[in-house]
Amino acid sequence: MKRIGILTSGGDAPGMNAAIRSVVLAAHHYHIDVVGFYHGYNGLIEPEYVQQSKVLTLADVNGIIHCGGTILKSARCPKMHTEQGLQAAADTLAAENIDALVVVGGDGSFTGLIALQAYWQGQVIGIPGTIDNDLAGTDFTIGFATAVNTAIEAIDKIRDTADAFERAFIVELMGRHSGHITFNVGIACAAEQVLSFENFSPQHATQTLVTIAKEIKQAQQERHSSYIIVIAENLWQGGATALAQQLQQQGIECTACVLGHIQRGGSPVAKDRILATKMGVAAVQALISSKSNIMIAEQHSAMCHITLAEAIKQGKLVSQQLVDAQQNILALTAQTQC
Ligand code: ATP
Repeated sequence: MKRIGILTSGGDAPGMNAAIRSVVLAAHHYHIDVVGFYHGYNGLIEPEYVQQSKVLTLADVNGIIHCGGTILKSARCPKMHTEQGLQAAADTLAAENIDALVVVGGDGSFTGLIALQAYWQGQVIGIPGTIDNDLAGTDFTIGFATAVNTAIEAIDKIRDTADAFERAFIVELMGRHSGHITFNVGIACAAEQVLSFENFSPQHATQTLVTIAKEIKQAQQERHSSYIIVIAENLWQGGATALAQQLQQQGIECTACVLGHIQRGGSPVAKDRILATKMGVAAVQALISSKSNIMIAEQHSAMCHITLAEAIKQGKLVSQQLVDAQQNILALTAQTQC
């Protein structure tokens, strides 16, 4: 093992830099070079980005652990879905004498890594870097904790203005097609309503609308209070804005707020920095032990490996315990009106 390639792919997540740093430091310890490829898989395919690839020095990763984003940049790369793209990526890896490729990303990036193996014989390892926390086999993904914290900070501020006006707000959160961010943030912000894939079905949209409208009116009349709904993106047709309009048609003043990309940015919290550091070291050690086709994971605070196929097989569901906890606390709140 002489040369490892590394790239960050898909949506960026706070802590990706910490993972890059950790891989470079661990590889340096074992006298292995790490070549950084830029702009996701484009760095293996597009000539102008292939040219940018370079051996990452210790100086390159100095002072980056606290930075959001990724020094290697990230991107979607549609060409990876084609035979020509995969072949071009394999050709670059061969030309650069890469023995193993580490990809920090989400399920899409790992699907690309699986596909690449039909064209390239080197070792491949995934490090779960996505704010969505939707990869199976790991308790948490890098970036999730920071995204949750960022959303909490934003909603705490929204709560102040919502309280001042006794107003309803609908806050749309990221998560693609999983409710990890929405449920965790909803609980932590004491949101009056959490709407996510786990507790909402589109067939019941009309009924849900009527129920929520009734609850908001009640909250405003009886408790003179604000009312915050957190809602997962891609859940309600038309998103938070459409839901706000529909509630307004029911006579409720409310404001939609899409938090959007703010959730991806910012300095990673301690949990993400530490997780990324542990995973980076584990990835290099796994490569030295000839492991391939795996994702580095953490289960019950211990590093482990699971196959890439298992990691992406089915999105990790929000635990029923968490869903129940949110519903129980809502029921208790309604009873005590606090
Ligand atoms: P996140 O969910 O956090 O945004 P992700 O890794 O799931 O991260 P995607 O946009 O789904 O993000 O995928 C990133 C890249 O992985 C794609 O742009 C593409 O280059 C590659 N990829 C995704 N799916 C495939 C596939 N089926 N075959 C080959 N490559 C793929």
